[in-house]
Amino acid sequence: AHDLLEETTIVAIATPAGRGGIGVVRLSGSNALAVAQQLFAKISWATPRHAVYGILRDVDGTRIDDAIATYYKAPQSYTGEDVVEIATHGSPVVLDWLLRRCVALGATPARAGEFTERAFLRGRLDLTEAEAVRDLIDAQTLEQAKLAAEQMSGSIATEIRPAKDALLVLIATLEAGIDFAEDDTPTMAADEIVASVRDVQQPLQTLLASFTHGRLMREGLQLAIVGKPNAGKSSLFNRLVEQERAIVTASPGTTRDVIAERVNLNGIPVELLDTAGIRETADEAERMGVERSRRAIADADAVLLVVDATEASDSQADALEAYLEAPLAEALQNRPLLIAWNKADLRQGSKSLPANTKGVVTSAATGEGIAELRGEILRMAGSQPSAAGATLTNLRQRDAVQSALEALERAVAAARTGIPHEMVLLDLYECLRALDSLTGQTTADDVLNRIFSSFCIGK
Ligand code: GDP
Ligand code: ZN
Repeated sequence: AHDLLEETTIVAIATPAGRGGIGVVRLSGSNALAVAQQLFAKISWATPRHAVYGILRDVDGTRIDDAIATYYKAPQSYTGEDVVEIATHGSPVVLDWLLRRCVALGATPARAGEFTERAFLRGRLDLTEAEAVRDLIDAQTLEQAKLAAEQMSGSIATEIRPAKDALLVLIATLEAGIDFAEDDTPTMAADEIVASVRDVQQPLQTLLASFTHGRLMREGLQLAIVGKPNAGKSSLFNRLVEQERAIVTASPGTTRDVIAERVNLNGIPVELLDTAGIRETADEAERMGVERSRRAIADADAVLLVVDATEASDSQADALEAYLEAPLAEALQNRPLLIAWNKADLRQGSKSLPANTKGVVTSAATGEGIAELRGEILRMAGSQPSAAGATLTNLRQRDAVQSALEALERAVAAARTGIPHEMVLLDLYECLRALDSLTGQTTADDVLNRIFSSFCIGK
């Protein structure tokens, strides 16, 4: 991989744009120290990883700022190259000047993500860890940050290691059988191969199942709130966001615009879309609102239907039927749907849900059922903490594991037909490539050779 690496030394402002107490400029590459030595006349860099104090001066000797610099000697650095981090006061003017000075001294402005890319190319991070760095920086909830931090520690590579090891042993066994069998009898019977493949499959399936939760954690969920005017959509919305964002009013049809608000439900960012009421109307403004609702329903991941339980009959079918006449009926069909039987405080008698209904009894007035509603929203979205020790968080990772599993299925089918093991091996190698692509590593030939050499072959 070394020829992929450029020999340039890159530089960038590492702290966010704007003013702050401290700002950091980071250099990485073989000339990082040489550049830093020219910036600070009197600093000794003898001890890596020690913060040193120095004065930054303009070319004419004018004092610009004090700075603290830290030298990380390769390969013990973020990128695996020589790195120097220079912390100044967090003034954009000073940081911009410092960046220009570094460029004048021979450094190249870094591309987006180039420090992490170098860390990957130098083998300091695998691909899932590099993605986790980005996710950690982008995290909007503490739970998202925790998930990213776990992945940044290499949890995915750890999780797939047993499957990968089992796969390598199977590949080596079949290869050995092909190369060294003295007669035509295969070294492994078909059902032995199938059993071995199942051992590889099982942990990968568990890992794949973690994706539903991982994607929700990372990307969040859009929930459209729909229902007739006055059912209590805006009031429930306010309960869920716990602030007075939507306008609550006693006259029907006020919520004409879709109002969106982000809430954090058990660490999952949920965007609530409060839509206009479902109602056939001649009123132009309200019809536009209905159109917006239709789009919100189409775009949302799930729909919360708010029913005024004081008027609704006691079954989900009837409650839905009432809305099937409405212009949004089509949009509502085949969407994940949760029903809130609202205004429970006004309802006489039983407050339990009618039989065969899927929903939550709520009262926006008293707060009854709101906690349960939050839980149901998450359950409807399929949010289950992962059974695996790691969580897949993006489509690239999901696709890699899925390809690996598909290749294993083909291997099983091939083994069962009794075709030569070479054909089974093709699928197994494809599985290996898919697992390699997940972490961005390549299982080198020497790894396979080492496994082969542990077999007593050629006796
Ligand atoms: P929307 O048109 O569906 O958004 O309904 P609103 O949230 O604007 O509520 C309509 C009226 O019903 C307001 O006067 C609310 O205070 C009232 N309301 C909403 N939810 C409840 C509830 O659970 N219990 C009671 N008693 N009143 C409610
Ligand atoms: Zn409303």
